[in-house]
Amino acid sequence: MENMLKDKVALVTGASRGIGKAIAIALAHQGAKVAINYSSSDDAAIEVCEIIRKNGGTAEIFKAKVNVEEEVDSMFAAIEEKLGSVEILVNNAGITKDNLLMRMKTEEWDNVIDVNLKGAFLCTRRVLKGMMKARYGKIINISSVVGFSGNAGQFNYSATKAGIIGMTKSAALELGSRGIRVNAVAPGFIETDMTAVLTDEVKAAYMEKIPLKALGKVEDIANAVVYLASPLSDYMTGQTLHLNGGLYL
Ligand code: NAD
Repeated sequence: MENMLKDKVALVTGASRGIGKAIAIALAHQGAKVAINYSSSDDAAIEVCEIIRKNGGTAEIFKAKVNVEEEVDSMFAAIEEKLGSVEILVNNAGITKDNLLMRMKTEEWDNVIDVNLKGAFLCTRRVLKGMMKARYGKIINISSVVGFSGNAGQFNYSATKAGIIGMTKSAALELGSRGIRVNAVAPGFIETDMTAVLTDEVKAAYMEKIPLKALGKVEDIANAVVYLASPLSDYMTGQTLHLNGGLYL
């Protein structure tokens, strides 16, 4: 099925690489006009934009740190001017600052909370202006398997990914009567730059525990986001799709 999202305006945060990049490309493939948000690498964001345009899609890049309110506000104003009001928001931007709890610096805690939770809060609050008016919207939050299972060395990160689920459910309850659907995707171990830093030993240990005996691909997550962004999932809100090869059941 193609063009399920024809001319819908979609914002994907942290879309210059990894899962966000795959989501941006997949939404554009379905006809969405995609706003590619990124925080640092102009070249990487431009490359994603070019891939989409070469495939006949529409995309623009918007540089902003999702955890900085003024930058989020200016980004939304720019998107509204260039593409229109955002109808699909994918809160994907996320960081890790792993450390054993005993050694975790307050700064490592603060940074992860700031980007992963405050970033999603600021973008969600801002997107509602247009969605409330339209009485329609799709918000998709990227959580993680570790928000459900916990993970040694990720006290800060797993707290944010569990927090994302609380935010998803609360927003779904509050916004359902306005036609705004809020759901989450919880990826397992996906091959990206974020997981490339893990040692072969750690990767092998994960593989042992994954019934499907494979790491996930960014496209696996993008496909789930397309479903949640599309009318195929219109009767679904407050839910989480788990894509982890059976790692956590
Ligand atoms: P990644 O590090 O490859 O990409 C993260 C993106 O977020 C980058 O483009 C980065 O520039 C952007 N970003 C970081 N801080 C930002 C900020 N302040 N403002 C705007 N953008 C910012 O990571 P990924 O693996 O593609 O992960 C994407 C999402 O999926 C994250 O929320 C992550 O927690 C989640 N996730 C990833 C995995 C995995 O195995 N890779 C598993 C579960 C969940």
